Amino acid sequence: MAGDKKHFVIVGGSLGGLAAGLALRELGHDTTILERNPTPVLEHQGAGIVAGGDTLAFFKKYNRCDRPIAVTSHRRQYLDRDGNVTHKEDMDQNMTSWDLAYYLMRANYDGTENSHCKVPDRKPTDGKSVHIHDRNVTDIKERDDGVEVFWESGGGKKGSIRADVLIGADGPSSTIRTLLTPEIQRVYAGYCALRGTVPEGEVSDAAREAFCERFTFFHCHGVQILAYLIPGEKGTVEPGRRLINFVYYTNFPEGSAELDEIMTDRDGKRRRITMPPGLTDMDMWEKQRRIARERLPPQFAEIVCATKKPFVQAVTDVISPTNEFMDGKVVLIGDALAGFRPHTVASTSQAAFDAMVFADYIEGKVSREEWKKQTLGFARYIQKRGVDMGNRSQFEDLPLKEHIHDRNVASVPREKEVYPDWATAI
Ligand SMILES: Cc1cc2nc3c(=O)[nH]c(=O)nc-3n(C[C@H](O)[C@H](O)[C@H](O)COP(=O)(O)OP(=O)(O)OC[C@H]3O[C@@H](n4cnc5c(N)ncnc54)[C@H](O)[C@@H]3O)c2cc1C
Repeated sequence: MAGDKKHFVIVGGSLGGLAAGLALRELGHDTTILERNPTPVLEHQGAGIVAGGDTLAFFKKYNRCDRPIAVTSHRRQYLDRDGNVTHKEDMDQNMTSWDLAYYLMRANYDGTENSHCKVPDRKPTDGKSVHIHDRNVTDIKERDDGVEVFWESGGGKKGSIRADVLIGADGPSSTIRTLLTPEIQRVYAGYCALRGTVPEGEVSDAAREAFCERFTFFHCHGVQILAYLIPGEKGTVEPGRRLINFVYYTNFPEGSAELDEIMTDRDGKRRRITMPPGLTDMDMWEKQRRIARERLPPQFAEIVCATKKPFVQAVTDVISPTNEFMDGKVVLIGDALAGFRPHTVASTSQAAFDAMVFADYIEGKVSREEWKKQTLGFARYIQKRGVDMGNRSQFEDLPLKEHIHDRNVASVPREKEVYPDWATAI
């Protein structure tokens, strides 16, 4: 793949698409990101991200903005129903916010001005980096020398753009993957993640003690909740101004009235997979507050009850059989390749890793075989791990030590993972 300057079209302008764009333009290639979102930036849609090794490595290599990117948790701990710490391990782990990661990438990629960081200078050797919003990609056609990518805008405008290589970074419901492998479906796992944030300055001393610079968990029948600190407004990591981020997994059987209720927004629209922040029906959320008080330790119940903009993500499974199509003219990365359950805390690391190792392949530093083995091995192995972890956590009654074991296994650095043969078969 090494050689001439190429034009890469990247479908999806979230973290995976931006990571690929940054890694490739650093090699001098031209990139165009097509993002379907109707507004120029994606904002206030997410919350916390555990910044794993590959996410940090990515920022170290490609981020030219000089500012802290994460809050460090120094301890992992588990509470009982009364809120007492029953197990703790000293361990540093870095947490960031989706908004901060996104704005850093946009500032670096296409110079998007924002309140989180200063836009860094471009290098003369950088390839062109273009981000176009309101471009919903609907189809692709293989050409002799590349791929034609067809899009539609919200106003009904249609057009196409030619790519030497097309990168599908369009998330777990990927259009590109669906066009190429229509038989692969994204499947609901039987539970949802209820999510939200609360300013650390607005909680009780007990809650601050439980969550500040701690990665804290609670498990009970059909429930797992965890919380950690993330950067606050404008990405600040200043103590007192950060946010406590929680992820509260709870079972809602497929087809149940409870699932319909939690996924129906304040305007009565049934959402399939995501209830974005700000659209949750707060009358319905009152019921979740009551349930939280009944079953969670007081510190967790407090933050669930205090969050002003809760949001909901149905947990799903999906994985593509491969990451390369049309003789390498189309490549899938990140969630489009494999949508992990959030327990793996690896989705952003996968996107970062896929972008970095693909750039190495394009540069000629790794072979095609090595690129495929590494990215598919990661995708298949961690996707399966997420299914196993999630099912054990939500649908089995395990002693705490089993949950601790699962969590510790998920913290093994990627370089130390040994993938089984089924994961790396190409
Ligand atoms: C707005 C938003 C907020 C998020 N917040 C969090 C969070 O708080 N914590 C967390 O752990 N993870 C969050 N995620 C998920 C996280 O970004 C991913 O799990 C991970 O980083 C891998 O990213 P990805 O780019 O592969 O996929 P995604 O982040 O899912 O991005 C896919 C992108 O492709 C775009 N797209 C989809 N179809 C098309 C199409 N046909 N044409 C053009 N564009 C298309 C989507 O609009 C989206 O921007 C969020 C994702 C989004 C989009």
